[in-house]
Amino acid sequence: MIEEAIVARFRIITIDGPAGAGKSSVARRLAAALGYEFLDTGAMYRAVTWRVLEKGIDPESGDEVAAVARATRLDWTADGELRVDGQTAPPAIRGDAVSGAPSAVSANPGVRDAMVAKQRAVAESRDLVAEGRDTGSVVFPDADVRFYLDAAPAERARRRAAQMRANSEAADEAAILAQIERRDLADSTRPNSPLCRTEGMDYVDTTGLAEPEVVELLRRKVHEAISPA
Ligand code: C5P
Repeated sequence: MIEEAIVARFRIITIDGPAGAGKSSVARRLAAALGYEFLDTGAMYRAVTWRVLEKGIDPESGDEVAAVARATRLDWTADGELRVDGQTAPPAIRGDAVSGAPSAVSANPGVRDAMVAKQRAVAESRDLVAEGRDTGSVVFPDADVRFYLDAAPAERARRRAAQMRANSEAADEAAILAQIERRDLADSTRPNSPLCRTEGMDYVDTTGLAEPEVVELLRRKVHEAISPA
């Protein structure tokens, strides 16, 4: 009789969806609830964008930008902190300069190839909840569970405005809504890895749900999907 080889099998849960659907914080909490690690793919694109700007490279200059993406070492510490070339990721990756710039960088095919390879390498050694726009459609199409998290644009604008006010920032909800609609259009029509729902994704509309309810819903769905019957 041939014994089946015992192969370590790590779990992958993906969460795709548009900007402002709450993917990041839901993914972080879902990972904690499951005892998995959280892979914030947006932070990786932000880190590369920051490096490009810091080196004074034009984000539109394709080859140079792709070379930066390949050369930048991105690691995650055990407690989920991103390290860029061995240093803690600087707060500037979330700042205005980076937030205003990433589309040219993240639309660059060489950058995407480099990030996808790094993301797959992370998944070889741990259970993951991976969050981003293409984690279920492109990076991990064979993930154990692939969620598509959505919410009505007006609700996403409301949540973002509430978040900004909680941080004592002024928030113009109409302007935020217009920005969300522009970003949805740009993300879903770009030629390289557009934001999309692919077959087999579990579509979850979070409109009207509080974050803990979303996390609990996803946690239950994961348990149903991966527990032995
Ligand atoms: O999610 P976050 O806003 O941090 O992502 C920053 C930018 O990185 C996005 O605007 C998007 O252009 C890009 N991104 C991407 N693919 C991912 C995650 C993020 O293109 N999987």
